Amino acid sequence: MRIEKNYDLSGQNTFRMKVKCACYIEYESVEELAGIDFDSLPKPIKHIGGGSNLLFKGDFPGTILHSAIKFIKYVDMGLDEVPVIVGSGVKWDDLVAELCGHGLWGAENLSLIPGEVGAAAVQNIGAYGVEFKDLVSGVSCYDLKERCKCKFTAPECRYGYRESMFKEAEDRYIITSVLLRVSRTAGPRLGYKGLEGIDSSTPAKVREAVIAIRRTKLPDPEELGSAGSFFKNPVVSALDFTRIVDAAQGATVPHYILDGGFIKVPAAWMIDQCGFKGEREGGAAVYEKQPLVIVNASGEATPDDVLELERRIIAGVHERFGVSLHPEVEHIG
Ligand SMILES: Cc1cc2nc3c(=O)[nH]c(=O)nc-3n(C[C@H](O)[C@H](O)[C@H](O)COP(=O)(O)OP(=O)(O)OC[C@H]3O[C@@H](n4cnc5c(N)ncnc54)[C@H](O)[C@@H]3O)c2cc1C
Repeated sequence: MRIEKNYDLSGQNTFRMKVKCACYIEYESVEELAGIDFDSLPKPIKHIGGGSNLLFKGDFPGTILHSAIKFIKYVDMGLDEVPVIVGSGVKWDDLVAELCGHGLWGAENLSLIPGEVGAAAVQNIGAYGVEFKDLVSGVSCYDLKERCKCKFTAPECRYGYRESMFKEAEDRYIITSVLLRVSRTAGPRLGYKGLEGIDSSTPAKVREAVIAIRRTKLPDPEELGSAGSFFKNPVVSALDFTRIVDAAQGATVPHYILDGGFIKVPAAWMIDQCGFKGEREGGAAVYEKQPLVIVNASGEATPDDVLELERRIIAGVHERFGVSLHPEVEHIG
C-alpha cells in the first residue's frame, strides 16, 4: 500500500489540473483496502480511477483513494460465453485489447475509452451502440458505510445512460472487481454511424476501426488535457423543441426522439451554433473538432479557467435556446 501526504494529483487527472490532496492512498488488494483506518483519514474521502471524468476545482482537503487491484482472470475459456473477473485498477482499454486479442467479442466497440475498470462500472461507459451494462454480470465492492465486502448483480446496479446505483449512492461503494461475460461467437455490432462497411471479421479488426474513428474526433489525453464530453446532451419536451427550432433561425436542428415523446438535442450542436468552437478562457478552450469537449489548451489551464468557460457556455446556450446544459464531468472540491 502506498500512502502519500500533500500529494500532487496533476498526473492523476486527464485535464492535468495542478492540484494537490491532503492524503493519497493506493491499495493493491481488497484486504489492504479493508485494513485502512478510514476514521483517521482527512475527510472527505473520494475514490478515483484514471481521473478522466473529473474536474478538481482546487486542492482537495481530504483523502484520495486509488485501486491498484490489477488482474484479469478467465473463469472458463472452454465456454462459449466466457466469464472474466477483472480487478478495478486494470486500465479499461488494456482489458479491451486483451479480450480482442483472445478473439472474444463484446467489448470491441468500447475501445480507447480512457479510465479504469472500477469507474467503467460506476459510469456505465458507452460508445458506438454498446454500454458496459451489456457485458457485466456482477460487481464486487467494499461498503464504506457498513465497512464490509458486498456484491451486486447487474440488475441491482440499475444501469442507465451513464447512470448507475453507484452514482446515486454517492461514494458509498468502492468497486474492487467486476464479472463480465464475453463471447466466442462472432457478434459485431455495426449499426452505429461510422462503423458500416468496416472489416468485422474479428473483434481486433473492429477495435482497429473504432480506434481510427475515435482518433479523428477526440483529443488524446496524453497530448491534450481534457475530460472528454464536458456536457450532457439535453433532453427536452416537444414544446421546448419548437422553441429551439425557432431560435435556430432556419438551421436544421439535429435531434433524436426518445421514449415518452422527449427529444434529445446534441449539446455540441448548440455550443457550435452559439459560436463557442475554439473559444478560449485563460489556458482552457473549446476543442475545435468537437465543441462538447473543453481542453487544457495551454497545458497551464487552471480550474477557474475551465469553470469560467463552462459558465459562459451554459449562459450563452441558455440565452439563445432557453436550454440549461449540465456538466457530465464530475466537479470535485
Ligand atoms: C478523451 C476522452 C474520451 C472519452 N470517451 C468516452 C466515451 O466514449 N464513453 C464514455 O462513456 N466515457 C468517455 N470518457 C469519460 C471517461 O473516460 C469515463 O467516464 C471513464 O469511465 C472514467 O474512468 P476513470 O477511471 O478515469 O474514472 P474517474 O474519472 O477517476 O472517476 C469517475 C467516477 O468513478 C468513481 N470511481 C472511480 N473508480 C472507482 C472505484 N474503484 N470504485 C468506486 N467508484 C470509483 C469516481 O469517484 C468518480 O465518481 C472519455 C474521457 C476522455 C478524457
